[in-house]
Amino acid sequence: MRLSFHGADRDVTGSCHLVECAGKRILVDCGLHQGSRALEEENAEPFRFDPAAIDILLLTHAHLDHCGRIPLLAKRGFKGEIVTTAASRELARLVMLDSAHLMEQEAERNARHAARRGNHSTDEPLYTVVDALDAVGRFGRAAEYGQPLEIAPGIRATFLDAGHILGSASILLELDEKGQHRRLLLSGDLGNSGRPILRDPAVPPAVDAVIMETTYGDRRHKGLGPSIDELYEAIAETGRRGGNVVIPTFALERAQELLYYLREGIAQGHVAAGLQVFLDSPMAISATEIFRRHPECFDEETAKLFAGGRDPFQLPGLHMTRETAQSKALNDVKHGAVIMAGSGMATGGRVTHHLRHNLWREASSVVFVGYAAVGTLARQIIDGAKQVKLFGEEIAVRARIHTIGGFSAHADQDGLLAWQRATRAARTFLVHGEEAAMRAFGAKLSGTKTEMPAVGETVAL
Ligand SMILES: [Zn+2]
Repeated sequence: MRLSFHGADRDVTGSCHLVECAGKRILVDCGLHQGSRALEEENAEPFRFDPAAIDILLLTHAHLDHCGRIPLLAKRGFKGEIVTTAASRELARLVMLDSAHLMEQEAERNARHAARRGNHSTDEPLYTVVDALDAVGRFGRAAEYGQPLEIAPGIRATFLDAGHILGSASILLELDEKGQHRRLLLSGDLGNSGRPILRDPAVPPAVDAVIMETTYGDRRHKGLGPSIDELYEAIAETGRRGGNVVIPTFALERAQELLYYLREGIAQGHVAAGLQVFLDSPMAISATEIFRRHPECFDEETAKLFAGGRDPFQLPGLHMTRETAQSKALNDVKHGAVIMAGSGMATGGRVTHHLRHNLWREASSVVFVGYAAVGTLARQIIDGAKQVKLFGEEIAVRARIHTIGGFSAHADQDGLLAWQRATRAARTFLVHGEEAAMRAFGAKLSGTKTEMPAVGETVAL
């Protein structure tokens, strides 16, 4: 029985772990490296294992840094079965196809630019939509929370609710080989307790070893309540000034969570009932439709709303603007609108157009509700830039800037610690975190052997 590490090792993206047992090779996640250019170049590197030799791929959840290299795995020979929850299957399909489409577009753009310079571009997309469709074709059995699946003789997998995004799971592997029995738990990304829409992360079972994420291993989150109040206040105040609110939004989970809070805000009288809200992201619109198809993933409160015929994501003034023309028409809206659009870090996408039309206006507001990496436009604005460059034009930053920190989809240090303690694991492998966060978290653990594996490292279980 062996375990090897192939991504998100002392790093936060590109999750990929390989378990070998009873002659089978089981891959857990196959994510894209994101962030710096150097990391992105790693995506094209050969896998450190033979993709054709992987029997089964278990997917914890549909974020790109967990599923984004699956089409490449398929392109390079993977012929096995992909097992995940029904909700993750639909979301991962959306995410992988979108990613392939973006890669194709970028390669085409590079080819055009090269041609204008009189060169020939040899730039190829990492994978194409056809590769992504091949990957989608490999989805097999759908896992149900808490129901063990016999994935091969001597290997059972149980998906446990991770409370991170719709369909997300931690995965318990029960492994038997030559009279040896091991229980291995992979955390996937863990969410927070007490959040709307999703259930809290399931209390994990006792295991021999655990592989766990440490994204916020060194931090404690601000409370959710004050963050929601801050959002309502930012909207009300912008309304009084006669401007728009632009919210750069991640399409999965955050967009649906914001719709949920806005609906609650209207019900409780904190937000004007006639507020015009534009969900200006085809990806977020599709994701919201997928949410509606999976009430089995909702927490009690949201399930009750749904069962009572009320849609937790529907607002009286909500407009889903899928078409480009509809999105462009928003440029003429000068006041009273909340515009949610991607990308979350304002590195591209429709939100950049809305920033161009609102950032220079004192009456408008920009509300950041998610993580903003160094070097992104979101980070520049958050850090107080007086001017930013958009579409080759200098745009003054005069709008009111709000940074609301309490909406994270990741458990903080306390949440991670409680989860780890419940596993009573003798060995704890820390992954999916910056090295400093990992060290800070590791120092808090006791009664377990803590390891921080490097990429390519193999350990016997
Ligand atoms: Zn995630």
